[in-house]
Amino acid sequence: MDDQTKTRLSAQTLVAQALGVHEPMTKAIVPPIHMSATYLRDADNGYAAGYVYGRTDNVTVQQAENLIAALEGAEEALLFGSGMAAATTVLLALEKPTHIIASQVMYWGFRSWLRDIGRYGHRVTFIDTSDLDAVRAAVKPGETGLLWIETPSNPLWTITDIAAVSEIAHAADAILCVDSTVATPIFTRPLSLGADIVMHSATKYLNGHSDVVAGALATVRDGPLWARIRKMRGQHGGALSPFDAWLLMRGMRTLNVRVRAQANTAAKLSAQLVGHPAISAVLYPGLEQHVGHKVALRQMAGGFGGMFSIRIKKGDKAAIAVAACVELWKRATSLGGVESLIEHRASIEGEGSPCPGDLLRLSVGLEDAEELYFDLTRALSVAT
Ligand SMILES: *Cc1c(COP(=O)(O)O)cnc(C)c1O
Repeated sequence: MDDQTKTRLSAQTLVAQALGVHEPMTKAIVPPIHMSATYLRDADNGYAAGYVYGRTDNVTVQQAENLIAALEGAEEALLFGSGMAAATTVLLALEKPTHIIASQVMYWGFRSWLRDIGRYGHRVTFIDTSDLDAVRAAVKPGETGLLWIETPSNPLWTITDIAAVSEIAHAADAILCVDSTVATPIFTRPLSLGADIVMHSATKYLNGHSDVVAGALATVRDGPLWARIRKMRGQHGGALSPFDAWLLMRGMRTLNVRVRAQANTAAKLSAQLVGHPAISAVLYPGLEQHVGHKVALRQMAGGFGGMFSIRIKKGDKAAIAVAACVELWKRATSLGGVESLIEHRASIEGEGSPCPGDLLRLSVGLEDAEELYFDLTRALSVAT
């Protein structure tokens, strides 16, 4: 598919055909997995095909990257061995020690890594990035080099206004990175809203089947930082394996239908649970009463994602008891798979977590909405 076709076609068509790549020798419509770790050098000592060594060059990985780039409207995407490998590479590739502004409420694994980033010379200010005045106040002119936001963010599904924060970042000559794992490229395209880099834990919705750990970065601005990111991935060897890239591409073929169905069920369940006697709050950006709903309406198109949280009136112990009583929902960490997951987040986040102890995070899968509702409400009444 040429670039013009890629920009013209919908995400639905792009993912279904995985950009229409086929294998030229047999015309197989499913591309094979290129496992080779090395490539033949030409007699003239060159590498005319452009492939030299597996740590940096692999067609299967590139095919999955090209699909992610097309979905995000990016110039280039890079795949990594995990979402954390992708996210940390951005920070490690910064040219010099800098001041970083990051969302207070975000994926805990990355937040705890960021908290220790002082050893690389960087300083971080954690703020509520949904509060634009707080973002403006946190910028240190001449010092702030990077803003890192996650929207909707774990596990309160806080919404940050990407376009507004990108203006603030660019006015300060800083770059904006957006962890868009939960929104997926189907509902939000951060690069079109001004972000410089978009990041995904491809482990989650992009792959969607809980059987690959992967991460992605994509950009529209191929500048010096991006060149260092690309080089660092090659040097550190953080790229995704060909087999995982192939599985990821297979998973992405159904991305559009999966996330739309998951968002529909999440919208239905969250609305049904509002006012439940055992629940003190239902957190879902699709609900009118969610603090980020208005911004979400503006920057999310077609749905609000498949993640929501509930807070249990009777507190921490009761929340754990509810999770213990479900049968259909699986008690596990992670999100975005075809099977619904329930998790007491505070237990995994540990000390220093801003996650309330009475909160249960729900990742909605592809099961029947009524069966999921019945299972959860039965657990709520048994446990509370
Ligand atoms: C899971 C997750 C990550 C980390 O990705 P891994 O693939 O587990 O390394 C980062 N951000 C968000 C929002 C996540 O859900």
